[in-house]
Amino acid sequence: MKPVFRGLLLVMLLLCIPSADARQNRARQADAQRPNIVFIMSDDHAAHAISAYGSKLIQTPHIDRLAKEGMKFENCFVTNSICTPSRAAILTGKYAHLNGVPVFNHIDSTQPQLQKYLQAAGYHTGMVGKWHLGGNDPKRPEEGKPAGFDYWNILPGQGAYFDPVMIENGQRKKLSGYTTDVITDLSIEFVKNRPQDKPFFLMYHHKAPHRNWQPAEKYRKQYENYEPPIPATFDDDYKGKSDAARQSTMHIDTDLNDNDTKGKPPAGLSGAALKRWKFKRYMQDYLACVQSLDDNIGRFLEFLDKSGLAQNTIVIYTSDQGFFLGEHNFYDKRFMYEESLRMPFLIRWPSRIKSGSVSKGMILNVDFAPLMLDAAGVKVPADMQGRSFLPLLSGQTPAGWRTSMYYRYYHPGHHNVAAHYGIRTHRYKLIFFNKLNQWELYDLQKDPQEMKNVYQDPAYAKVVEQLKAELLRQRKSLNDNDQFADALPQDDVG
Ligand code: CA
Repeated sequence: MKPVFRGLLLVMLLLCIPSADARQNRARQADAQRPNIVFIMSDDHAAHAISAYGSKLIQTPHIDRLAKEGMKFENCFVTNSICTPSRAAILTGKYAHLNGVPVFNHIDSTQPQLQKYLQAAGYHTGMVGKWHLGGNDPKRPEEGKPAGFDYWNILPGQGAYFDPVMIENGQRKKLSGYTTDVITDLSIEFVKNRPQDKPFFLMYHHKAPHRNWQPAEKYRKQYENYEPPIPATFDDDYKGKSDAARQSTMHIDTDLNDNDTKGKPPAGLSGAALKRWKFKRYMQDYLACVQSLDDNIGRFLEFLDKSGLAQNTIVIYTSDQGFFLGEHNFYDKRFMYEESLRMPFLIRWPSRIKSGSVSKGMILNVDFAPLMLDAAGVKVPADMQGRSFLPLLSGQTPAGWRTSMYYRYYHPGHHNVAAHYGIRTHRYKLIFFNKLNQWELYDLQKDPQEMKNVYQDPAYAKVVEQLKAELLRQRKSLNDNDQFADALPQDDVG
């Protein structure tokens, strides 16, 4: 090669090698493009108390914004319908038998978790509000302590509805105000105070509307004369069901107490009238708590708009599980029946999701961590049992996407709900109450309200056989070897 060409080549090569400054600038630009993630989760907020999900009980215009401007998932299910296990499944991407949280209140925080992966990938991470995975026991200060968060400010245990004590990076502080407002204020502060050169990940977790449903005065007044519509299955007599529904202690008529209704029933009420009065009081307070939640989420979304963050921030809204709002004479959750199994899941991501889209894809709480990691450009760890559903966000269903899901509830606990596990497909649900040795099968197409157990019906013999085979297959592939079937740690109120 002639010297003049060699020189030219060298100049061209040098032009191709970016300087350290250019490399840093490029890294900063890539960081600026990686989406921020806000994961908003409430506690015990049933999808059927959200108007975007067709609620007949309440209007939730602010939560609905996420459906209008993003995507609504119609088949999102919890793998164990109780608070603490669901939170652990969300953080680890694993079922209870592998993450070690089947019922109790502590997570082993040394295990890998979503926020740790995001932090390692350069995200500024925060956790504000209800944690409920331990770390508050002075005798065991390290156990369950939130790990992998640059900032955390959590309620101890269940936390209080008013003037809450909160633990900010390990320091206990007494705050004043209504807890739903306080958690929103602190979440906004976290975003305002973030470092500007990193994307952020915020878990913004409400306590509301957990039992015993204490609304702020403004919302209490709004609902004080509210008359809730009575659910179609309100007077379910459990005929044909296993013994579990009857044995449980989460019935509207017999188990809601004076603390729940904030006072004694009027003298002389009994039977059906008393049951309706209790239900009315329950719904008035529950919905008032939800209305405040909705207003606060609206306030947070408005903050994102005004601060110019809405465009590049993924916003998710969900609840740790579903909840019974009088269906089958129940409050609370735990059972694999629809109202408790179903989670709301709304997601807005303006650059990736078409406004007003709806997915019927079957997603689970163990999928949330894989999704968020995938969205952040982080490789999903092979030991997570959930799967990223990023393609579903643009309407693509990946090959082999699940058409059935495995569920397991472990311990009778606070509401004496018999242990059970089962399988749900798009059409059927098979439940095995393993300690009672009793089965239930529902044809959700013909009987969406789960009033007719068809397990013994010969017309469904083939379906039973297929579902049992699928149940065994899933238990095997998920490595559920009954690790917690008998020796369970102490329960907590969930
Ligand atoms: Ca909960």
